[in-house]
Amino acid sequence: MSFALPLMLLGALFPVSLAAPAVAQPKPTMRIHEIDVGQGAATLIELPCGAMLIDTGGEKSSSFDGVSMLTSYLDAFFARRTDLHRVLDVLVVTHPHIDHVRGVPAVLAGYAPRNVVEDGLPGKQEDAVPIIAGLHSWVAQNAATVHHLEVSLDAFPRSGKPLHNKVLDPFSTCNGVNPNVAALWGRVPTDPGWGTDYDKPRFDNENNHSVVTRVDFGAASVLITGDLEDAAIPDMLAARKAGSFDVDAYVVGHHGSENGTTVDLLRAITPQWALIGAGPPDRQESWTAWDYGHPREWIVDMLQREVSGRRKALDAQVGTAKKTFVPKKIKAPVYATGWDGTVVLEADASGRFAMVAPDWKPASP
Ligand SMILES: [Zn+2]
Repeated sequence: MSFALPLMLLGALFPVSLAAPAVAQPKPTMRIHEIDVGQGAATLIELPCGAMLIDTGGEKSSSFDGVSMLTSYLDAFFARRTDLHRVLDVLVVTHPHIDHVRGVPAVLAGYAPRNVVEDGLPGKQEDAVPIIAGLHSWVAQNAATVHHLEVSLDAFPRSGKPLHNKVLDPFSTCNGVNPNVAALWGRVPTDPGWGTDYDKPRFDNENNHSVVTRVDFGAASVLITGDLEDAAIPDMLAARKAGSFDVDAYVVGHHGSENGTTVDLLRAITPQWALIGAGPPDRQESWTAWDYGHPREWIVDMLQREVSGRRKALDAQVGTAKKTFVPKKIKAPVYATGWDGTVVLEADASGRFAMVAPDWKPASP
């Protein structure tokens, strides 16, 4: 005899249901976190049963440390999502440039990813080469438990479909939704005849070999193009089937650089939202947004024309050249980490989006 009898007696005396009242479950959502790592990129995709990180930032200047910004953010994220046990399901390194790989050692040490995806290039920048070598040895040491994928165009289906496999997309159905992660571009094996830029072969520019990923969560989708430039973008558009690029949220290529987005790409994407990972213009040192003039005015103008919807108006600074900025009123849903800090966009599987951070309501028309 335990508590059954008293409960039965209570039930007889007070004939009401003892079952817990039904609580409405929150809808499963995807969150896109464009993390403020200064001049650089780090995009966290939060899913109901997992997480993936695309690039690891970030800027390192006398007054800013992008890696500590990244790890502080990930610590707070995993403190909220205790169900994920400080493990990333996928780490994607789009290409071996320091503003994308500086946080790789900290990410491997703190949030050991189960799957590592990269373009397979060893890197050329003095500070990036040892980081990529360290990534490769970590993957080799953990080969029993960590899956590794080098995304080369050789591995893509000849049909023009995106590349999809269990390393890129280890996610299964969770809370009724099965996310889909696919690659649309990666390392290019031979020069397609891209010519030169400032007397250097464009083929030698690692930006043009960036791993490009698309994540679908039901009817909601996001595209991340790394630092892919206008040499490779037309080839990518031609190589994949029409519709492959049609997404809701665009993580803007190459920090909003003048060579990271084309009109044709934007018209294939038809985004509602544009998220730019770039630093603010006020840290006037080498390798900063100020140094590069990111994001560029005409790219921001083009994004404002092409994205649908509105945002609370913002007075921002945009680059017209290296180290040269002008004021710009932002009224369309174009967000940048250098203007807004970390940007968090949430979507449910029906494709309904909401801006979580910055917590601003759209401006009235
Ligand atoms: Zn970059």
